[in-house]
Amino acid sequence: MPQHLYEKSQPGRVAVRFPKVDSEQARAGIPDKHLRQSAPDLPELGELELVRHYVNLSQKNMSIDTNFYPLGSCTMKYNPKINDALAALPGFAALHPAQPVEQMQGLLRLMHEMERFLKEISGLDAVTLQPAAGAHGELTGLMITRQYFIHKGEEDRKIVLVPDSAHGTNPASAALCGFKCKEVPSNDQGLVDRDALKALLAEHKVALLMITNPNTLGLFEENIVEIGRMVHDAGGLLYMDGANMNALLGKALPGKCGVDIMHFNLHKTFSGPHGGGGPGSGPVAVAGHLEGFLPVPRIVESDGQFALEWNHPRSVGKVRSWLGNLIIVIRAYCYIRAYGGEGLKCVAENAVLNANYLMQALKQAYLLTYDRPCAHEFVLSGKWQNACGVHTMDIAKRLIDFGFHPPTVYFPLIVPEAIMIEPTETESKQELDSFIAAMLKIAGEAKETPELVKNAPHTTPVRRLNEVKAAKEPVLTCPICM
Ligand SMILES: *Cc1c(COP(=O)(O)O)cnc(C)c1O
Repeated sequence: MPQHLYEKSQPGRVAVRFPKVDSEQARAGIPDKHLRQSAPDLPELGELELVRHYVNLSQKNMSIDTNFYPLGSCTMKYNPKINDALAALPGFAALHPAQPVEQMQGLLRLMHEMERFLKEISGLDAVTLQPAAGAHGELTGLMITRQYFIHKGEEDRKIVLVPDSAHGTNPASAALCGFKCKEVPSNDQGLVDRDALKALLAEHKVALLMITNPNTLGLFEENIVEIGRMVHDAGGLLYMDGANMNALLGKALPGKCGVDIMHFNLHKTFSGPHGGGGPGSGPVAVAGHLEGFLPVPRIVESDGQFALEWNHPRSVGKVRSWLGNLIIVIRAYCYIRAYGGEGLKCVAENAVLNANYLMQALKQAYLLTYDRPCAHEFVLSGKWQNACGVHTMDIAKRLIDFGFHPPTVYFPLIVPEAIMIEPTETESKQELDSFIAAMLKIAGEAKETPELVKNAPHTTPVRRLNEVKAAKEPVLTCPICM
């Protein structure tokens, strides 16, 4: 383990020299009780020691800038650095959110165009950029649903149907919005069981079916049009969780498949970085009959001038302060403009090609529960390895020794010992081949030297952490100063 900053500290050593201040003047007006009685206990270090310490620390984590990161579903996909530079342009970054609209015309134009791009990509009629995450987009979509049925005089529609393969945020958002959830089982092909759906629709007053397509098994719900019709015939609406749109871009329009409402995750599909949990952006697109319920303000254009329109009496109101997480919207806008329509189609083709390439190579060594062509991701199971006492968590940890970030594990819940892999469209064949080689090697080790896998990782500064404790009781201050 490297030495801690406090252990390296040498009295009198400094990294930066500040200009001398007149201490009388500096403390003027500050009440005595707020003045420090003694100097703070800080480590004293030279500039290079400090730089090296932080650079070394930054490299103890895996990131997509250092390692292949095939996480699955919540994957941070392609993150071009130029988007960071563009979002940091002073015209965007230095804009105050309360500035008058006359001074924000460029930003409003970008947002208006972004709404248009998302309408085109979704095949839907209207978009809001306000929600700040995927789950927040879901909540907004559910609020729109509730408002829609209140206006139709059908507020007794209280049931939201959620397939058993869905992301956990779907039922959580529905519950938060006051709906009751019922689970729709998957059939033996990993798709929505239509007989079960039919029975649920007959039995309950359903407001919404929240479907994910491709679903979290990475499978395209090929009966989506029929499913939409079934829900509509029963008086309900169809919601699509579009957090991961890579496989559909330019290939399939949710709006043409019967979807009434969907959300996007700009921080997954459209290049927004989301390491460490944020910031995100979860725009919502709706079909024409729901436009009036979208959050306000809406961005409107007239004669090349953009304005914010608040007068929408049926709107669900405002769901986020100011206009949303615009630094992510700007990145996503740059990503879409850089690729263009044809480029986005290539994204979809390569995302699907890469995932199927990996899946075909790995299914000889790992159980593939639903063996059919996948979309942008697929789900293996560590079940075969269980016979040797090796579990999915061990395989994931062992991958770290080979220099790969582990895939998403133990999700979706309907695959026991799940290993969910999303290679993304931007990885080279060589990188995919190295990953395949590592996964096959680990499958061999599981049989021959299972202890090696069960005790992994062997190459990291720390071994297996208590992840729950790390999240629930984080130690955010230096242990030596406490
Ligand atoms: C990531 C994800 C979400 C939630 O998005 P957040 O931005 O994390 O709230 C919802 N559904 C699916 C399928 C996802 O992958």
